[in-house]
Order: sequence, then C-alpha cells, then structure tokens
Amino acid sequence: MPTVSRLTPYATTIFAEMSQLAVTHGAINLGQGFPDTDGPASMLAAACSQITGGNNQYPPGPGVPLLRQAVADHQSRCHGLDYDPDTEVLITVGATEAIAGSLVGLVEPGAEVVVIEPYYDAYAAATAMAGGVRRTVPLVADGDTFTLDRDALAATVSDRTAVLVLNSPHNPTGTVLSADDLQAIASVCIAHDVIVLSDEVYEHQVFDGRPHRSIATLPGMRERTLRISSAAKTFNVTGWKVGWVSGPAELVAATRTAKQFMSFVGSGPFQPAVTHALNTQMPWVHQAREDLARKRDLISEALRNIGFGVHHTAGTFFVCADPRPLGYRDGEQLCRDLPQRVGVAAVPVSAFVDNAEPWSHLVRFAFAKRDEVLTEAVARLQTLTD
Ligand SMILES: *Cc1c(COP(=O)(O)O)cnc(C)c1O
Repeated sequence: MPTVSRLTPYATTIFAEMSQLAVTHGAINLGQGFPDTDGPASMLAAACSQITGGNNQYPPGPGVPLLRQAVADHQSRCHGLDYDPDTEVLITVGATEAIAGSLVGLVEPGAEVVVIEPYYDAYAAATAMAGGVRRTVPLVADGDTFTLDRDALAATVSDRTAVLVLNSPHNPTGTVLSADDLQAIASVCIAHDVIVLSDEVYEHQVFDGRPHRSIATLPGMRERTLRISSAAKTFNVTGWKVGWVSGPAELVAATRTAKQFMSFVGSGPFQPAVTHALNTQMPWVHQAREDLARKRDLISEALRNIGFGVHHTAGTFFVCADPRPLGYRDGEQLCRDLPQRVGVAAVPVSAFVDNAEPWSHLVRFAFAKRDEVLTEAVARLQTLTD
C-alpha cells in the first residue's frame, strides 16, 4: 500500500460506503448529514454577484476583514465572547480545516489528543496527520440521553494531553452536554494545562429554548479554548466550505501557520456572502431551528412507533435509534441491509468509536431533510416490521 501507515485506517469511510449503497438501491439517504434545502436567498444572491462582479482571486490569508469582523460581532452578540477580529479570528476552509490546522499546529508528535467517544471522524484523521496519539473518553447512556463518563475523563486527561477535542451539540448522538459536564472538562483541562478545541458547528441547532453554552465562557477557559464554527450547518451551505476559528492570538497563530500551507486561502466569493448572512440573516437561522425541532419530533416519534428505542436529541441534525427491540443486534449490519431491504440509508454509530461494544447496536439517522422526504423515509422504514 502506498498510503502511509498512520493514514491507512482512514482510507475509506463508512459514510461513502453507505452513500454508495443508497445510490445503488435508490434509497433515501439519511446517512450523510447535509440539509436538502437552500439557505437564505439574499445570501445566495450575494455569492452570485460576487462571482459575476469579479471577486475571483485569492482573498487575504486570514480571511476577508469584514467576515472576521462579522464573526467577532456574532460571537459577542450570541455568547458575550469578545475576540479581536485581526488577531483572534481566522477564516478556514470549513470547520474541517479549522480542526486539521489546529491539531497540526498545536500537537507535537507523540503528544496525546483526547476525544469524546463517539467522535466525528475528522478528529482522528487530523490527530494522525499531526502524529498525535488519540485517547478517548466515552459518553454513557443515561436514560434516553447521554452524559460524560467523568471518571474516565479524570483518568484519561493528564500532563501528556496537548488538546482535548469537544463537540457539543454532539454529532452523532444529538447530546448537548450539561453545565456540570462542561465544568468537569474545564476543571481537568485547567489542572493539566490542556488546550480545548471546541467544535461548535451545531451552536444554532439547540432545541426546546435551551441556550447554547460555549466552554470558552467558563472561568479560565477563554485563554485555552479555540472555538470552531462554520457556515455549513448555520446557513445550509455545506458545499461552500467557509468556517472559522476564534481564540487567543497565540493559539490562532498556531492554526494559521498550518492552514497557510494546507489551503493558503479558500472560498473567496463566498466569504462576503457569509458576512452578509451573519450580519442580517439570524431570523432565518432561528426559523430553521424551529423547523428542525419539528423534524426531530416527526422522525423520533415515527421511529418509536415502528419499535426502535429512540434517544432524545437536544441539538444537531441527528437522532440515534436502537433497533434491538426489532431483533437487530448489530447496527452496522442493519445499515448494510437497510438500503436494499427498505430503501433508506443510515450510518452505524460504531463508525464513530474505537471501543465498539457499547455502541454496536445504535444507528444514526439525519433529519435535516424536507418533510416529504422524511415522511417517505418513515413509510419505507415501517415496512421493516412487515
Ligand atoms: C459537518 C461537521 C463539520 C464540518 O464542517 P465543514 O464546515 O463542512 O467543514 C465539523 N464538525 C462536525 C461535528 C460536523 O458535523
């Protein structure tokens, strides 16, 4: 194999495999998490006019100044967090590059990176690119929700830990970590002088009137947290790849150093369009959140009626379902069968973990889809019990 050994575990992804199965069998794809409707119309128009108006060359390295200002203003308004747009905000090629650039820029070979399990696959691949060593701290089921295993947290984070990667609201489980869990993470990271990479791409998809709380707002945390977000999930533009990272200048400089030679810059004409959206389109975002909460209710209730055990989703685009009451013990096998058997694709939660055992049954469904698509998917899933 020509691929270097530290990257061979990441050569193929279950998401690509399931999407391929969906195409082969004409299945509705509730595996991949992208929305199937467009973001705000004025934002789309702004991007078009940027392109036809001649904004097609390299933007400035750290991102266009007006977007950095809009990102800083947005965080000040939404979270009371103040960042200097010139030194403490960096525009990246999606949240993905913010994650990779931060880990490559901050983790020495052999240093440890702690991730919360299940974890988004990019954290593991980027840790491997940096030559870091991945350690996991699991979520544990608690009724129909999940909480952090705080004993495992205390046992895993140490002076060898360079970075802890946090993701709340959490993909794939839809968990929003409690204030106590966030405080436990903050305390242990302060005690061991650990940097927190906080992936908050679902900051605006928290339901039921709950506020989103960034760990950067806790005492002693702003100075050790890089906060990541993105236009992808905020404005339904996963193909634009406009993300950002904010934090103390020294940490952002580390990300910028790596990012500079990953992509240099990206998303030129889209950056002004996202600036417009951050400055003027938050009412659209709030409406989209209400619609999503309704879709969560629709699919959760339908899955429950079919006979799945359904976990509560407090935020994100995802719901996790337990098919054991229907006689399926293996979520991966179920996901391989579903496209052909009933014409729906999902992904197994085991794809997001190192220690499969507690997770091997669970499957993740994405619900950021049009109502008619969800309704048809539910009708197809009902045939599982025929
Ligand atoms: C979608 C997603 C990303 C990637 O965001 P991009 O801006 O498209 O790169 C990062 N983290 C999580 C948890 C995601 O679900």
